[in-house]
Amino acid sequence: MKTIEDLVKDDLHGKRVLVRSDLNVPLDADRNISDDGRLRASVPTITALTQAGASVIVVAHLGRPKGAPEEKFSLQPVVARFSELLGVDVSFATDTVGEDAQRVVGALKDGEVALLENLRFNPGETSKVDAERGAFADQLAAFADAFVSDGFGVVHRKQASVYDVATRLPHYAGGLVGAEVEVLKRLTREPARPYAVVLGGAKVADKLAVIENLMKTADRLLIGGGMAYTFLAAKGYEVGKSLLDAEKIETCARYLEQAQAHGVEIILPVDTVVAPDFSDAGPIQVVDGDAIPADQMGLDIGPKSGELFASKIVDCKTVFWNGPMGAFEMSPFAAGTHSVAQALVEATAHGALTVVGGGDSAAAVRQLGFSDDQFGHISTGGGASLEFLEGKDLPGIDILST
Ligand code: ADP
Ligand code: MG
Repeated sequence: MKTIEDLVKDDLHGKRVLVRSDLNVPLDADRNISDDGRLRASVPTITALTQAGASVIVVAHLGRPKGAPEEKFSLQPVVARFSELLGVDVSFATDTVGEDAQRVVGALKDGEVALLENLRFNPGETSKVDAERGAFADQLAAFADAFVSDGFGVVHRKQASVYDVATRLPHYAGGLVGAEVEVLKRLTREPARPYAVVLGGAKVADKLAVIENLMKTADRLLIGGGMAYTFLAAKGYEVGKSLLDAEKIETCARYLEQAQAHGVEIILPVDTVVAPDFSDAGPIQVVDGDAIPADQMGLDIGPKSGELFASKIVDCKTVFWNGPMGAFEMSPFAAGTHSVAQALVEATAHGALTVVGGGDSAAAVRQLGFSDDQFGHISTGGGASLEFLEGKDLPGIDILST
């Protein structure tokens, strides 16, 4: 796999480089950026290219538009902050490969940066039909002399700007993709032990699949957040109105058995913070993990669980964490996530490799006042890192080795 270091060895004056970045930042109701982590992570690769003399065309997506322009998914709101972080004025094209993109790209000079509108405004980007993706990739590739893949958050997707464009241009792994893959390799190849994996968040079905594979490598699996209740249900407990994937109860029961057979510890919450519904309007109470009232919803792991989880993390040499322990956006349900974050910080200070993956998990640690350098690595790609740990091929990485 060629990397950006190979590319910037040459003088790039007069060359145009297409960079796939991940600029999919969370926006609030007024379309202000609420966490600019992904923008900051995208800067070093682009800067390395402009410093080598290249003009850079950045392509990215935001949210999930359905193959047509939709104002609420425009990338326009990131331009000002992106320009500020890059230290250059980014010129913005109001379409992806249309007239405005051609105008903006045509006007680019050495060392300048352009950003094209949301790739997913074009149906070719995510099409399942090879020829449709290919046609869009042809148009993107026509803008540039080389392609740099740096959008780690999308490398598990076989999409035009991730996969197909690499078959049409000399291609290189960007610095961010390179760094992310290095960290993931350290998690899968002989991780230092004990190795704990902490899973939470809301995408229960998506995240269950990784557990089967993790049981082969991890020593401890800590399960909190919305993930926990399907496991508690598998143990036969009432979970009330909590997030539950009823179809996966049997799968969870099987995992609990397999874990015993593998000698892997699965740690579930022993207490839970509950409320009548998904709100902090109250009344809020703490109940035992096996005693959630039928009319209540679990919205955070309880204080005893916070301590238990922390004690299973601090002595580890490797920790991977994906998914908040509760609905941390509401402060009464943020304590469990805080305990886990604090335990990772302590493990990091003792020399452990700690990795935080997942958009909301990264946003949570920042919202709770932690800084990025208190952790070993904050991944920009939750889905991509989970699929890697699940043992799946990542098309956007594999294609870079061809
Ligand atoms: P990530 O983006 O880190 O991969 P997810 O997207 O899977 O994480 O989940 C994050 C969301 O999970 C947060 O918005 C949080 O409010 C929600 N969440 C966590 N615990 C619960 C819970 N017990 N019930 C409902 N939602 C929860
Ligand atoms: Mg999320």
